[in-house]
Amino acid sequence: MKIVLVAGARPNFVKLSPLFYALRRFGENPLVIHTGQHYDYELSQAFFEDFDLPEPDFYFGVGSDTNLKQISKMLSRAEDVLKGIKPDVVVVFGDVNSTLALAVASKHLRITLAHVEAGLRSRDWSMPEEINRITTDALSDILFSPSYDATENLLEEGKPPESIFTVGNIMIDSLIKVRPKAEAAEFWKELGLNRGGYLLATLHRPVNVDDERRLRRIISVLNELHRRYPVVLPLHPRTKKNMDRWGIKADFIAIKPLRYVHFLSLMLGSALVITDSGGVQEETTFLGIPCITLRPNTERPITVKMGTNELVKSPEDLFEAVERRFGRFKKTEIPLWDGRTALRISKVLLSLSERGNFSSL
Ligand code: UDP
Repeated sequence: MKIVLVAGARPNFVKLSPLFYALRRFGENPLVIHTGQHYDYELSQAFFEDFDLPEPDFYFGVGSDTNLKQISKMLSRAEDVLKGIKPDVVVVFGDVNSTLALAVASKHLRITLAHVEAGLRSRDWSMPEEINRITTDALSDILFSPSYDATENLLEEGKPPESIFTVGNIMIDSLIKVRPKAEAAEFWKELGLNRGGYLLATLHRPVNVDDERRLRRIISVLNELHRRYPVVLPLHPRTKKNMDRWGIKADFIAIKPLRYVHFLSLMLGSALVITDSGGVQEETTFLGIPCITLRPNTERPITVKMGTNELVKSPEDLFEAVERRFGRFKKTEIPLWDGRTALRISKVLLSLSERGNFSSL
């Protein structure tokens, strides 16, 4: 079977790697397209190293640009590359621009399309990710859902039940695999921190970092929090660029984006995480670490339902929420978040291919 796996941005690499290796175990030889949506060493190459992935077979090198320019560059490269490969199936992950572009290109070229992480909904159309995930699901022939609530969303939207496979959360496969290395790394020690004594933060969503006033307010609360508990924030390039541009100063521990094994290590040692990331909400929930999500909504409501994640809209409410939740770990269990998602996806793809079902989907 000719399978193409598509990645472009940091969270994609975490999701692609388990499937790449599971398919290899079944004797398949998946090809990897990297669009180059993320290209900094810390957001791209470091993940290939941590997950022991070979160089991508195709690199588009689109670089940073506006969302639409990025998507249009990817579309035109995808057409040529996919016409050359003639894959049986293209697998896209998550909700980034690369996901949408390769979904549109595959569908136009009548190639079977599978979406890993189907069915998540924030119901907030102002988020580019919501546009990407809803459109990708609409185009996909095979929908791999991470949880039963996401499956419900797909059914409510009228997707054919036979196209939906509830397989679990593939990010958790990576987490489970890398966890022993991350535990052993004790990366907090390198920053002079004590296990269970600090806050870990990540920030990169446009709603938080592209508005000068809001970014100032958030950084000023983190500065204030740092006087009470140490705060570590691996700065996403987008956030750093805006802080530099607007002269916003961090008093807390602001470091480069971390490679996965070090970030997971810091997460494991933290007493609480503040984030606007999608994946980090899930990882903290799996680990039972309290998480505060600085957003008005989430496409991952299961993390709130489990009681580990709390949405905080306004930076002014952050201090109180941190005080209330610091160190309050909670045991959680979500069906199918068990490290075997990539295996389940591989089995579905192989059985559809054996039955010659791709063409009839
Ligand atoms: N991550 C990382 N290093 C960092 C910050 C995040 O390895 O400095 C990992 C994190 O553990 C998760 C993924 O990157 O697996 C999430 O990516 P991101 O927050 O960029 O994307 P989102 O999940 O919001 O789409």
